[in-house]
Amino acid sequence: MVQGYVNLNTERNKEWLQEYVDNWVTFFKKQTDTGKVADYIPKLEDADPNALGITIIGKHGTQIRSGDLDIPFSIQSISKVLSFIVACMDRGLTYVLHRVDVEPTGEAFNSIMHLEINNPKRPFNPMVNSGAITISSLLNGKTSDQKLEPIFALLEKMIGYRPELDVEVYESERDTSMRNRAIGYYLLEEGYLESDLGVTLETYFKQCSINITTDDLARIGLVLSNDGFHPDTGEVIIPRNVTRIAKSLMLTCGMYDASGKFAAYVGIPAKSGVSGGILAVVPPRVRDNDLPFLDGCGIGVFGPALDKQGNSIAGIKLLRHIANSWDMSLF
Ligand code: GLN
Repeated sequence: MVQGYVNLNTERNKEWLQEYVDNWVTFFKKQTDTGKVADYIPKLEDADPNALGITIIGKHGTQIRSGDLDIPFSIQSISKVLSFIVACMDRGLTYVLHRVDVEPTGEAFNSIMHLEINNPKRPFNPMVNSGAITISSLLNGKTSDQKLEPIFALLEKMIGYRPELDVEVYESERDTSMRNRAIGYYLLEEGYLESDLGVTLETYFKQCSINITTDDLARIGLVLSNDGFHPDTGEVIIPRNVTRIAKSLMLTCGMYDASGKFAAYVGIPAKSGVSGGILAVVPPRVRDNDLPFLDGCGIGVFGPALDKQGNSIAGIKLLRHIANSWDMSLF
């Protein structure tokens, strides 16, 4: 009863919500100048630094789309959420969490330092590179394509089509990523990799190079908001205990070494990538009936100009502003 009323409310105000988001996209787009597009993966430098777009999709299909949309970009670190989910579904949660911990590092996503100081030298969490590379090694299959197949299959179920690999981005990272290779060798020495190092890194670089859009991210967010249940197909595609841990990891570790601030000031599970994407999950909440998307929603943001931590500089501000205005925080 209450849900029906809330949904009607969002529908009734859709035009107003659209205008509101359009205005704030225009406002924050000006701040893209203060950030910088990632260049350590040379191909990422081709992105338009002033692009900014957002898609919000609610449980009953309400969509707010604004700014620079339909620009495919590589998923980068956001893929870490998907590979973690697939590994847990294939290998079991206990098995996976025995190999990768669930503690925030407070360090850059590609840091090696925490591996050195931790004892046992287990990667801190699946959202930093050391943890994600370990997860890629746990995926079933002998070749990178076999390992990636369930990630593509999961994505297809979530977003309704099979996304493509951006081969140029993949080759660009493969040919330059010395730090990830260093992390890989370190993990190999410590006995954390379950697959050949070359195949593991190939899998990791490829999963980061899958092309998606803000609409796709919003759909992924919506499924996670619904604890793995897809509202369009009526199918449970991820077990609830896996979505629960994935969302906790996004909340505590998803925004690199800005995760604490994001949790404090925005308060929703999110994961960013160096191509400028942000996946955000707004769970259903009990609040004033006038607030939009009370049934929960998924949000996808794209803004390639990054801040010092490697998060979309204008994207994070836009997300924070909307989440605060519409009281989307978990707390
Ligand atoms: N492929 C990138 C890397 O490993 C992903 C990093 C990111 O998006 N933070 O460096």
